[in-house]
Amino acid sequence: MSPPKRNQAPAPGVKCPHCKSPANNTRTVVVSETLKEIRYHCTNEKCGHIFLADLEIKRTLVPSDCPNADIKIPQHDFNAAKTN
Ligand SMILES: [Zn+2]
Repeated sequence: MSPPKRNQAPAPGVKCPHCKSPANNTRTVVVSETLKEIRYHCTNEKCGHIFLADLEIKRTLVPSDCPNADIKIPQHDFNAAKTN
């Protein structure tokens, strides 16, 4: 298996869990086609928290019209999401 790829791809906006300030994405490691590990730095200089978060594609809502046979993503179960 090849080592994870590193890049600076855009990542979702995240707030620091401690002080609630915005956190900047400083590195993204592509673990697989459906999983990225993202490093964040809190922008609050008094806080200084640096943390890792995962971005994972979990379920398909609408199937792709050009599917890749190597990509296996579970279909979302809309019935399971209902309450009552
Ligand atoms: Zn913080």
